[in-house]
Amino acid sequence: METKQEFRICNQCGKTVKTDGAPPYGEGLSVSKTWGYFSGKDGERHHFFLCEDCYDKLVKGFSVPVDIEEETELL
Ligand SMILES: [Zn+2]
Repeated sequence: METKQEFRICNQCGKTVKTDGAPPYGEGLSVSKTWGYFSGKDGERHHFFLCEDCYDKLVKGFSVPVDIEEETELL
């Protein structure tokens, strides 16, 4: 069982982001990838977290922009 982490550290800049527990929360991008058999990382599971600032910097470098949809039922 995975315990929920209250704080995440941005892998890019090292900033601490509070993502759980008592509000206010910060947000970031949490990535979990299990590389398959035909990748060069056979069976490795990679996790990383980016704070919102680093996410913005990352996607600015994309050749093809991120698909963005408006979430109409945002709480
Ligand atoms: Zn960051």
